[in-house]
Amino acid sequence: MDKLMITAALVGAEVTRENTPHLPVTPEEIGIAAAEAHAAGAAIAHIHVRNAEGRPSQNRELYRQAIEEIRKRCDIIVQVSTGGAVGMSAEERLQPVTLAPEMATLTTGTVNFGRDVFFNPPEMVEQFAETMQQYGVRPEFEIFDVGMIANAQRLVKKGLVTGHLHFDFVMGVPGGIPATAEHLLHMVRQLPEGATWTVAGIGRAQLPMSVLGIVLGGHVRVGLEDNIYYRKGELATNAQLVARVVRIAQELGREIATPDEARAKLGIRR
Ligand SMILES: [Zn+2]
Repeated sequence: MDKLMITAALVGAEVTRENTPHLPVTPEEIGIAAAEAHAAGAAIAHIHVRNAEGRPSQNRELYRQAIEEIRKRCDIIVQVSTGGAVGMSAEERLQPVTLAPEMATLTTGTVNFGRDVFFNPPEMVEQFAETMQQYGVRPEFEIFDVGMIANAQRLVKKGLVTGHLHFDFVMGVPGGIPATAEHLLHMVRQLPEGATWTVAGIGRAQLPMSVLGIVLGGHVRVGLEDNIYYRKGELATNAQLVARVVRIAQELGREIATPDEARAKLGIRR
């Protein structure tokens, strides 16, 4: 099997400092958290940023600072979010892509998100894909339900995404696909030849879905964006969650990819 690419979803848009004191919020804290996740074995840092009040932001300057703080410390692949937070405009969400980061998320459909709606109509998705193409950013398709895989393939057919195709299955969001082995297998079977995939289980699904990702030859995303607990009642740090995946992978005979090995796999040129 391929070496395992671990993504650390460090901060997200929903979790707060009130939920966990381990959440990195400032650009410097995000830089430190990325370096710790990298030291633990992560190849990719999936980042959001927060404003001075700790609320989710897509501000270009905040992303620039966060990336600078990461780059000072390690060579982890930086993947910016274009999801932002529920209710943001397309232009607002696209700001970090204009910094030409190595990767960005590309959600290929609309999904209920708890009591909110994560809005991604076709024109907006196409605009996002075009902008990523323009800035040479490798998209990661964020798949919240099965139909979004076909939507991603439509973008490829239109020439809006070229080169290596990488998918991230976000499983267990209330409103999206439930986090079960059967659903994961079904989605993996829908992927085009040669594509790679990561699985991100939400909440208590994070650990079992990670193990499935390892044994099925996929890749794994963990981190405080998706789950704040190490086990029931015990809060985790980002690095602890990464380190646990590394230990399990090693027991299962799966080697861990460095950032440069992940770049080679994903077709990213630094
Ligand atoms: Zn995210």
